[in-house]
Amino acid sequence: MTATPQTATPQPSTPLAIVTGASQGIGYAIATELARRGHRLALLARREKPLHEAARHLEPAAPVVRAFPCDVTDAARVQAVFQQILDWGGRVDVLVNNAGLGVFAPIHEISDTDWAANLNTNLTGVFLCSRAVAPQMIRQRSGHIINISSLAGKNAFAGGSAYCASKWGLMGLTYCMAEDLRRYGIRVSVICPGTVQTEFSPHAGKDPARMLQAADVARTVGWLLEQEPQSFVSEVLIRPTQKP
Ligand code: NDP
Repeated sequence: MTATPQTATPQPSTPLAIVTGASQGIGYAIATELARRGHRLALLARREKPLHEAARHLEPAAPVVRAFPCDVTDAARVQAVFQQILDWGGRVDVLVNNAGLGVFAPIHEISDTDWAANLNTNLTGVFLCSRAVAPQMIRQRSGHIINISSLAGKNAFAGGSAYCASKWGLMGLTYCMAEDLRRYGIRVSVICPGTVQTEFSPHAGKDPARMLQAADVARTVGWLLEQEPQSFVSEVLIRPTQKP
């Protein structure tokens, strides 16, 4: 698997953002917002075609965009891809851990495979990507890691065992990472959106017109980055104005 061929010259002084799960939905909206704010972009997702298409769409808006096909659950691949990104970009200012999936079923019906997919993607993937950028951010004495959790990381509901376990775990991972890294000037935040209108799950019985939109989450990412360096917002909950 190869990264998108790109002829643009890297500009190490231009901020660089890495967005996982950037080929569609919330991740694509976040990449769009970061492009609008002048970031060079490194986009990650597993499927090459949609990822390269997303990169192509974002090219006119961002200083530089590159696609890096990567499964965030694959430790060796994550390490190799993040090294490629650092070799190319020279620095990393923002990591948005957005890649995620949800398998919803009662506890007695969850297969080993579905359980592992939820936990490996939504929790271990965030650990692997964050661990891969932390040394560079520590060297820089700056950086912002933003994790996309969910209101399911705060609330319990039937059928949510695997998904909620991964997102509750992500809350704990976020808070501990923040404590590990704040002394180096690195900020770690978590965003917990309610139901967002994407391809993520069928959202049965919900009114799409009342759901949050991916851009609502993306704007929140932009807003977090606007905080002055001496402070950071550690957690944001986003709810739709009317219940979907
Ligand atoms: P989508 O299903 O629309 O997009 C998921 C993205 O993640 C795709 O780009 C997908 O690409 C990528 N992805 C999935 N697994 C992996 C993996 N192992 N490695 C790398 N990339 C991966 O989901 P949303 O945009 O709706 O969700 C994004 C995040 O927001 C998730 O973490 C989700 O839990 C969270 N969230 C979503 C809500 C919603 O209602 N939609 C509500 C609250 C939180 P590919 O398949 O090619 O890898």
